[in-house]
Amino acid sequence: MAVDAVTVTILGATGSIGTSALDVMARHPGRFRVRALTGHRNIGLLAQQCRRFRPELAVVADAQAASALREQLGAACGDIQILYGEDGLEYAAGSGADITVAAIVGAAGLRPALRAVADGGRILLANKESLVMAGALFMDAVARSGATLLPLDSEHNAVFQCLPGNFSRARPVDSGVTRVLLTASGGPFRATPRSELEQVTPEQACAHPNWSMGRKISVDSATLMNKGLEVIEASWLFGIDADHLDVVVHPQSIVHSLVEYVDGTMLAQMSNPDMRTPIAHALGWPERLEAGVTPLDLVGLGRLDFGAPDHDRFPCLGLAYQALRAGGSAPAVLNAANEEAVSAFLDQCLPFTGIATVIETALECAETVDLTGIDALLAVDGAARRVARDAIARAGAAQ
Ligand code: NAD
Ligand code: MG
Repeated sequence: MAVDAVTVTILGATGSIGTSALDVMARHPGRFRVRALTGHRNIGLLAQQCRRFRPELAVVADAQAASALREQLGAACGDIQILYGEDGLEYAAGSGADITVAAIVGAAGLRPALRAVADGGRILLANKESLVMAGALFMDAVARSGATLLPLDSEHNAVFQCLPGNFSRARPVDSGVTRVLLTASGGPFRATPRSELEQVTPEQACAHPNWSMGRKISVDSATLMNKGLEVIEASWLFGIDADHLDVVVHPQSIVHSLVEYVDGTMLAQMSNPDMRTPIAHALGWPERLEAGVTPLDLVGLGRLDFGAPDHDRFPCLGLAYQALRAGGSAPAVLNAANEEAVSAFLDQCLPFTGIATVIETALECAETVDLTGIDALLAVDGAARRVARDAIARAGAAQ
């Protein structure tokens, strides 16, 4: 292996994004060396990854998971250090890798991502929830440490690719950018009548037509909350306000997003819907890396369709815009209530249409305040989760 290989830590290595990142890295032997992998409770897969990629460090959820991993690895454990819990995650995030892939799902990803940012290396951000919860704190931390933040979310990676070299998030208009358009597939219920949405099951919601993803983001895609979270994410990443951020439904998921310029130009990034494209882009940037992704066949595709989102059937998108416009703690409330509601829906304790109702209730109950630091944020997050759980319990009792 080359001495000057780029060191990579993957937070959330056993997830959909984590495994795609390892797939891309494995296509470039000698170029990358794995520093740390974290796998929470997916010990079987983490053990396989440890055998194959030989990280210096592996992190799991707790002591029990750590001994299970040690047992599964047996002699193959060699000199792999095994840590657990939040301290283990922070240690991995701060282990000085050249690149850290932040691919833990949900609020659990915030602290490790912030730890990696503080380290000042290159952060490949998939965990959009951390920007939604803590956008100002997160972007301040990036500015302070001088970290390079590259988006892995396909839409934001597309926007990044369509922005000019001289782009500054402090003054987007200076580079002629007038609008950012995020595309949305519309999810598995794009054409489902409103009257049938009440009855849809977690399995139906997780069967995305174009993308294979973790369960939480799959449900977010089905409610369009994923696009709402992405609007907030884009606003922080690119310094664009809600009035200059639009969502376009594009069922084929070929155009991943677009940037509009003052001269009438609109630039789009297109590729097959495969997360290995944005992952390879960010791992190699500014170089281009082979990603194992089939090139587009435009003639085979024949057509690309675009339409407006249906806010009546999918109120979560509007709630996200509302939270972005309210600012302060509102997006953190939106995110916390959404996480609770999605988890209740996956546990079959809340109907699909109840997700938006729970979030709306949480937003109505919470006063919008400025977030002065991580402790203030965690207090807001905790309070919103309590309100959401109460609303979920009431919805359950009424069924
Ligand atoms: P996933 O459920 O497949 O994987 C999540 C990873 O996080 C796993 O490695 C899991 O072990 C780990 N994890 C879960 N709970 C944890 C906890 N409490 N503490 C520590 N680790 C924990 O999810 P995913 O689809 O890979 O998504 C990961 C993130 O990337 C999400 O924020 C999602 O919104 C974002 N994202 C995913 C995709 C995609 O195509 N999957 C696309 C864009 C953005
Ligand atoms: Mg996305």
